[in-house]
Amino acid sequence: NLKANIEEKGETEVKNIIREFNQMVEIIAKQDESRQQFVSNVSHELKTPITSMKVLADSLVGQENVPEELYQEFLTDIAKEIDRENDIITDLLNLVRMDSGNDKLNISTVNINELVESTLKRLRPIAEVKNIEVVLESFRPVMADVDEVKFNMVVTNLVENAIKYNVTDGWVRVSLNADHQYFYLKVADSGIGIEDDQQEHIFERFFRVDKARARETGGTGLGLSITKNIILLHEGTVKVHSKEGEGTTFTVRIPLKYIEQ
Ligand code: ADP
Repeated sequence: NLKANIEEKGETEVKNIIREFNQMVEIIAKQDESRQQFVSNVSHELKTPITSMKVLADSLVGQENVPEELYQEFLTDIAKEIDRENDIITDLLNLVRMDSGNDKLNISTVNINELVESTLKRLRPIAEVKNIEVVLESFRPVMADVDEVKFNMVVTNLVENAIKYNVTDGWVRVSLNADHQYFYLKVADSGIGIEDDQQEHIFERFFRVDKARARETGGTGLGLSITKNIILLHEGTVKVHSKEGEGTTFTVRIPLKYIEQ
């Protein structure tokens, strides 16, 4: 009886080990798949501007009597594609650096109100092109332990998107609040909104709701995944609330005090 008992125990243990092993294999396979997907996405994204530049350059090369205006126009387009390529590479480097885990946060106590205010000041001229009003509502002064450069990227990305995906004569409202443990940054806009079934994907790398439209607005599709990465590094959370045709609100919550893990 005892022998049978031991055998039975051994058998379940072996079964457990096999199950865990299979789960591990499954996880590794998934990671590998997403890595391959990422590399394939990166290659595609990097190739797109190059293809455009090649087409633009080819159509000028070997042509006789090309009007000066056409030269100017095509060269301007080529310069735009170079800027775009540059943006993608910068975003990618930021992501890869954070992913590799050797990108430490450079924490200091930062006046968040001032940081947000100065970011808004920098972005208002872009908003003015579409006559979009950008306002800051701060409910209380916030001093928090953050990586100033990285947190600035979070604010910049969210507000840039709120302007980019907005309508003429729209508004962007940024609010800042805090309790004893966290501070809350809200970026609300009166823009085009995001369909319900797309909302869960917007933090994925290279995801854009409408590729054609997003390309016109000059995005890389990496901004929100960088934003989320930075927030997670700060042990924070980010949520999106959106209604198509009405607008979008992002809510970021970050601990006031940073505790090294
Ligand atoms: P992009 O560089 O394309 O802006 P992001 O990663 O910043 O990339 O955003 C991913 C996608 O999420 C965008 O292409 C856009 O479709 C959608 N999106 C982001 N912010 C907003 C917003 N405030 N309003 C509507 N759509 C948004």
